[in-house]
Amino acid sequence: MSDARWEAVIGIEIHAQLLTRTKMFCGCALSFGDDPNVHTCPVCLAHPGALPVTNREAVRLAIVAGHALGCEIAERSVFSRKNYFYPDLPKAYQISQYDEPVCLGGTFRYLTEDGERTVGITRAHLEEDAAKLIHTGGDGRRAGAESSVVDFNRGGTPLLEIVTEPDLRSGAEAAAFLKQLRQTLVQLGVTDGNMEQGSMRADANISVRPAGREAFGTKTELKNMNSFTFLERGITAEIARQIAVLEDGGTITQETLHYEPTPGEITSLRSKEEAHDYRYFPEPDLVPVVPDRAWVEEIRASLPELPIDRRERWMRDLGLTFEDAEVLSETAELAGYFEAVAAVAPPKSAANWVRGELRAQLRERGEEPWESEVTPAALGEIIAMAEAREISMPNAKAVLAEVVATGAAPREVVEAKGLGAISDETELIAIVDRLLAENAAQAQQLRDGRDKVVGFFVGQAMRATQGRADPARVGELVRERALGG
Ligand code: ADP
Ligand code: ZN
Ligand code: MG
Repeated sequence: MSDARWEAVIGIEIHAQLLTRTKMFCGCALSFGDDPNVHTCPVCLAHPGALPVTNREAVRLAIVAGHALGCEIAERSVFSRKNYFYPDLPKAYQISQYDEPVCLGGTFRYLTEDGERTVGITRAHLEEDAAKLIHTGGDGRRAGAESSVVDFNRGGTPLLEIVTEPDLRSGAEAAAFLKQLRQTLVQLGVTDGNMEQGSMRADANISVRPAGREAFGTKTELKNMNSFTFLERGITAEIARQIAVLEDGGTITQETLHYEPTPGEITSLRSKEEAHDYRYFPEPDLVPVVPDRAWVEEIRASLPELPIDRRERWMRDLGLTFEDAEVLSETAELAGYFEAVAAVAPPKSAANWVRGELRAQLRERGEEPWESEVTPAALGEIIAMAEAREISMPNAKAVLAEVVATGAAPREVVEAKGLGAISDETELIAIVDRLLAENAAQAQQLRDGRDKVVGFFVGQAMRATQGRADPARVGELVRERALGG
């Protein structure tokens, strides 16, 4: 519901699983889908006396993310124990960061069709994931299950929790932000960002306030939405619910909510009164994280161009549209491929070919451009030949199909198959004259002023020449010869 009398206020908390080889505080391998409880050790099973050691690569990835989020990288950050009792947590506390996180105070920039927007980043901190509970004998949720078993493989997985300022104003805005945050973290190798498998999860804090008022309303927290669509729908539904409650004269209770996508229903998980007191205190078994400043700077210097900067550069310098840039920057591989084509062909044509014909032809084979037989140089050559009218557009596509299938050099394909454009004008004129004579009825329609019939003759001419004619030139010739130009 977008209601001019109310304004929604949204802040997001994101948990991203870090792409390390091993767990946050022990040497166990990270895995997804292996047999249960095969990646465990005394540390992540909380055997007495086992001591944690901080994973250096996890710290490095947190710093990479911090730089991309424009955060300050703390000189010193501290791990704390967050105490609670639950079967997925064998120590009965989670090692997390509390009042001294690794990344502080940043800004994330993202693009919309209306231009650049920003979201404040409050903080980002390192922590370990809990183990995975599997509820059996029901629909997979705890409610209604017969029993629950624990898989400790996930226990101790490194997570980066990113907390935003309450700067977002709608479900759509939140989804656009999260999509680009995910893209950025994935392209920097921080996380694989797989939302279905839970390696990236988002909770949304939502409140509404009368338009024009500065003070925030009471917020609710919508948990664990595992796709952009659900995030957008869940937030939109919760905003509508809050507005309805307030317009009814009611008040919002601070609570944690669950969004069930299929009926689009919001249910309460727990209210503020049941909220935990985690009794945080500094983890005595770990030293503070004090990253060497030269290392922090070295990490900053080695960051690749961020997706947003690349998109803005393409739109500014290469004349790409918002949508071109959005599609082509989807993955680092696709972006790199496009740039290589754009280096040897006009960028706008390169964008059209990569987005359109190339992806369409490869989709049938289940291939991606960068792993296909079509090198950027080969595609650039096909585009150049088409633009120079050395081959017609239909034949350019046929040449591409041959390169896709065999990896042959485009020029050799043109020669071997005789696909070169008909450059001899008299040959084209002869064909057009023959077609006008053979199709007297259509030729008459043309003379009667029905210009649409030109298309018919162009089609016939393309067939007669096996696509070697230039359709635009054929159209001109049809008019000239039929109407006497
Ligand atoms: P809590 O103490 O409940 O954890 P925080 O102040 O730490 O709340 O904020 C948690 C998240 O909620 C942040 O992303 C923040 O931007 C967001 N947030 C805080 N207040 C509001 C509000 N009134 N409406 C919407 N989001 C809010
Ligand atoms: Zn372990
Ligand atoms: Mg908080």
